[in-house]
Amino acid sequence: MKILVSGAGAAGLCAGIDLARAGHTVEIVERADHLRVNGSPIDVRGDALETARGMGILDAVRAHRITMTEQTMFVDRSSEAVAPLVTQEIDDSPDDVELPREDLMTILRQALPAEVDLRFTESIATLVDDGSRVAVTFASGREAGYDVVVGADGVHSAVRRLVFGPEREFTEHLGVYVAIGDAPGQATPGNRTTEILNLPGRFAGVARYRDKALGIFEFRSGPIDYDHHDRAAQKRILAEAFAGIEDWKVPELIKTAQDDPELYFDAIALIHVPAWHRGRVVLIGDAAHCATPMAGRGTSLALLGAWALTEELGRHGDDLEAAFSAYERRQRPYATAAQEFARGGADLVVPATWEAIEARNTRLRAAQPL
Ligand SMILES: Cc1cc2nc3c(=O)[nH]c(=O)nc-3n(C[C@H](O)[C@H](O)[C@H](O)COP(=O)(O)OP(=O)(O)OC[C@H]3O[C@@H](n4cnc5c(N)ncnc54)[C@H](O)[C@@H]3O)c2cc1C
Repeated sequence: MKILVSGAGAAGLCAGIDLARAGHTVEIVERADHLRVNGSPIDVRGDALETARGMGILDAVRAHRITMTEQTMFVDRSSEAVAPLVTQEIDDSPDDVELPREDLMTILRQALPAEVDLRFTESIATLVDDGSRVAVTFASGREAGYDVVVGADGVHSAVRRLVFGPEREFTEHLGVYVAIGDAPGQATPGNRTTEILNLPGRFAGVARYRDKALGIFEFRSGPIDYDHHDRAAQKRILAEAFAGIEDWKVPELIKTAQDDPELYFDAIALIHVPAWHRGRVVLIGDAAHCATPMAGRGTSLALLGAWALTEELGRHGDDLEAAFSAYERRQRPYATAAQEFARGGADLVVPATWEAIEARNTRLRAAQPL
């Protein structure tokens, strides 16, 4: 089949790899002018490890392993450790592999078969599914037809909006925003500790791995109305959320995050779509079932979903309805479990009050004394 994939994140690249290897002709369009590889380290967990093995990337994934969660500490304003982040609270098993997001994206890019047509600065403007083919016009003005369109364009998916409905219908805001930016001044050779300062409803942290440091921020807020592509607006909202906080390293971390042209900023919001396919269009990854960074499972879900979709297309041939339904039956339980896990995330990492911060610290110290 001739398949168009919208989005070259983890889900889109995995789809490109799996579908092309299964013999399909694949084109991927990515809205940005480059692969968006930034962000904090991510995890390949549980059954996604087997998928990585099937894709032939498990050795590379393991070779890039880092272990940040072992050394993650909640600190007070003077950088004194007050509680450890207990790894068992998060991991599926000791086999889980944590690696820099940029490394995984590079591994996936390198595994993409040469015949996959990957186009940057391109996106779908309109699509019409007439039952036998999907006619697509692109932002560039190009027009083309496809047997299947895969929406792998993330939490703010254009494919979902065009085919399934407006974003607000599928979004469950968890009341927290996240921002991740470079923190070059915080990288100290040999220091791999991740430190997090909590203030009520606020989290500011430094994550260190290899020779890098990232500033990570979370803050509680109801939905904020802004254009999610507008980075200047994102930086302004971040600055406002931490305005007046002079504690610890917060002012300098906010400053370096603001200087990062690739700052990652988004609402922590679950995506629930009642059915992930309609006609010849199917959703995978965050576009279908975003579980948020709180779940620590977005990348694993991306690997699993692209793999299941490819296998079921292989099994059911031209019967797309059967293939997409079977994909969904396999993938739903993983997505639902990850979304359930995410719901507890805010209370763990961004407690709302001083009392809640202290109660969380006491619980963590009891599980793993300092
Ligand atoms: C820059 C960035 C940083 C991230 N950092 C973290 C992190 O630190 N921790 C974490 O847990 N998760 C992070 N995530 C989310 C994480 O990547 C996903 O949860 C997971 O990997 C599933 O990926 P996905 O491919 O479904 O979605 P995404 O990773 O969001 O990828 C979607 C891709 O589609 C592209 N796109 C968007 N709209 C269009 C369009 N209209 N047309 C074409 N392309 C489009 C985007 O530019 C992006 O490359 C980050 C995502 C991004 C984009």
